[in-house]
Amino acid sequence: MVFNQFQVWEDIKRNAEIGYDICIVGAGASGTGIALDASLRGYKVILIDKGDFASQTSSKSTKLIHGGVRYLEQAVKTLDWQQFHMVYKALHERRSMIDNAPHLAHPLALLTPCYSWFDRIYYRIGMWLYDQIAGKTNLLPSKSVSNEQLKKILPHLNVDGMKGGILYYDGQFNDARYALSVAKAAARNGAHVINYTELKDLVLSPKSLKIKKVILQNNQLGKTLEVPVKAVINAAGPFADPIRKMANPKLHNRLKVSRGAHIVLHKSFWESEKALLIPKTDDGRVVFVIPWRDYVLVGTTDEPDKLKESPPILEEEKVYLLDYFNRFSAKKASLEDISGVFVGQRPLIEAQISEAMPQDTKSIVRDHVVEVDSRSKLVSILGGKWTTYRVMAKDTLDMLESEVFSVYQTRCKTQHYNLFTGVDFDPKIFDELVSKNSISSHTLKHLQEIYGPEKGLVLSFCESQKDGLKEIIPNQPYLLGEIEYLKTFEMANSLDDILDRRWGISLRDTHLANEIKKVVQF
Ligand SMILES: Cc1cc2nc3c(=O)[nH]c(=O)nc-3n(C[C@H](O)[C@H](O)[C@H](O)COP(=O)(O)OP(=O)(O)OC[C@H]3O[C@@H](n4cnc5c(N)ncnc54)[C@H](O)[C@@H]3O)c2cc1C
Repeated sequence: MVFNQFQVWEDIKRNAEIGYDICIVGAGASGTGIALDASLRGYKVILIDKGDFASQTSSKSTKLIHGGVRYLEQAVKTLDWQQFHMVYKALHERRSMIDNAPHLAHPLALLTPCYSWFDRIYYRIGMWLYDQIAGKTNLLPSKSVSNEQLKKILPHLNVDGMKGGILYYDGQFNDARYALSVAKAAARNGAHVINYTELKDLVLSPKSLKIKKVILQNNQLGKTLEVPVKAVINAAGPFADPIRKMANPKLHNRLKVSRGAHIVLHKSFWESEKALLIPKTDDGRVVFVIPWRDYVLVGTTDEPDKLKESPPILEEEKVYLLDYFNRFSAKKASLEDISGVFVGQRPLIEAQISEAMPQDTKSIVRDHVVEVDSRSKLVSILGGKWTTYRVMAKDTLDMLESEVFSVYQTRCKTQHYNLFTGVDFDPKIFDELVSKNSISSHTLKHLQEIYGPEKGLVLSFCESQKDGLKEIIPNQPYLLGEIEYLKTFEMANSLDDILDRRWGISLRDTHLANEIKKVVQF
C-alpha cells in the first residue's frame, strides 16, 4: 500500500465534499488507536497530525508496557480503587500489545533490588500480587533471587549491601513504530491518515454552535482544505487544551505537563538483557535502567514543566540520571559516555493533580478521562498512558457513539487485531532474496526488528533500486534503498522522520545519526 503525503492529500481532496464521520486530531498513541478502532467499527475516518506520527510524547516514552508497580503500591497503601482499576487494566493490556505486533513488543525481565530482608518480603508479596492481578494474561511469574544469582544474570550490577532482589516481568516496545503501525493498520481499513497536516480551525454551526467542518492545513504542501465532519476527536495529548478552546472558548484548561528525561549509554555499560527498577530514589522517584538494542536507557525524571514541542534535556537531568546509573552499575559512566538523550512531556489532568499534592506530579494517577463538550460536541481524550492506548480508544468511541451520534455502541474489535493483518509476503521469496543478495546477519536482524512481516516488501523494494542494497555506513545494518521505501510506504518527509522515529537512531546515538546525515541526500 502506497502511503505518502501527496497521494493521501489527493484522496482527502476527492473526499472533501462528502466529508468524514470522524476527524481525529493528533496521531500519537491516543489518536492512532482511535483511528484504527473507528475504522474497524465501520466509520469513515480522517486522522491528522501537525507533525510526524508520534513526533511528540508518544515517541519519547520509557518504552515500557506496564501496569505500574509504583501505582499498585500506592493503590494498596491508600486503598484507592480507581488506581487499582487502572493497574488492572494496564496489566491486562500488556498481552494484547505484545500479541498484536510481536516484532515491536516483547516481555522484559526487571529486577527490583532489596537492601533488607524486610524489603525482600515486601517486594516479593507486591510482585506476587502484580502477577495475580494480571491473571491469565500474566507474561511470566516473578521470583526471588539471591545475590549469587544476581551476579550471574546482571554482571554489571553493583550488589554491595544488597540482600538479593525480585525479578518480575513487564513489556518493552518500540513506541514510535508502534504508533506508525497502528496508523497504517487504520489506513489499510479505509482511514485517510496524514502527517504534517494541522487543524487550523473549526467551523461551528451558527445556530447550534456544533462543529460542522474542520479547516486543515498541510504544512509540507502549503495547502488548505475545508472538510465537513460529523464529529471531531481531540487526541492532541499535552496540546489538547488549545483545541478544546478552539471549539468552545469558555472552557477552562484541564491539562498540566510534567517532563521526563532519559539518557542513553552504550550496552557495554550494562551487558544484560535484564532491566533494573530503582524503586525509590532519594527524592521518591522510580528510575529504570533498561537494555535497548545495542544500548541501555536510563530514565526518567518527573518535574512540572511548561508546554513546548521537543523540549531539550537539562544538564542537571543528565547528571541526576547518570548518578543513579553509577550507584547501581559496577562499570561507571561519565557525561561524555552519553550517546543519546530525549525528553517527553506527560499530559496530566489538573483535577488529578489537585487531588494529589499540588507540586508532586509523581503521585498522580496516570488514568484517562473522556470529555464531551456539550456545546460544540468536541470529544477530547485527556491523560492516560501508552500501555492503555487501546482501552482509551475504546472508551472514547463508546462515548462518542452514545453522547454525540446517539446510537447504540458498536463492538470494539481491536483487542485481538494483529496490526499487520492484510500484509502478505511469501517467506520463501524473502529467503531467496536473502541468499541471492548475501544479506548480512545484522541487516536481517534490523529488518525483522523494524519491519516484521513487512521485511520482505522492504528487501524486494531495496533490490529494485540502484544501490538499494548498499549499507549507508559500512558495518551498520541500514540500507540505502530503505530511504526511498520509507518515503513511499511510511510517509517519511525528512531524514529526521527516519532517524528519529522510523529507525529511532537519533534517540540512541546522535553521533551515528550525524554520520548518516553526512552521506544521505533526502
Ligand atoms: C517521559 C515519559 C515516559 C513515559 N513512559 C511511558 C511508558 O513507559 N509506558 C507507558 O505506557 N506510558 C508512558 N508514558 C505516557 C505515554 O507516553 C503518553 O501517555 C502517550 O504517549 C500520550 O500520547 P498522546 O497521543 O495522547 O499524545 P502525543 O503523543 O503527544 O500526541 C499528540 C499529537 O497531537 C498533535 N497535535 C497537537 N495539536 C495539533 C493540531 N492542532 N493539529 C494536528 N495535530 C496536532 C501533536 O503533534 C502530537 O503528535 C510516558 C510519558 C512520558 C512523558
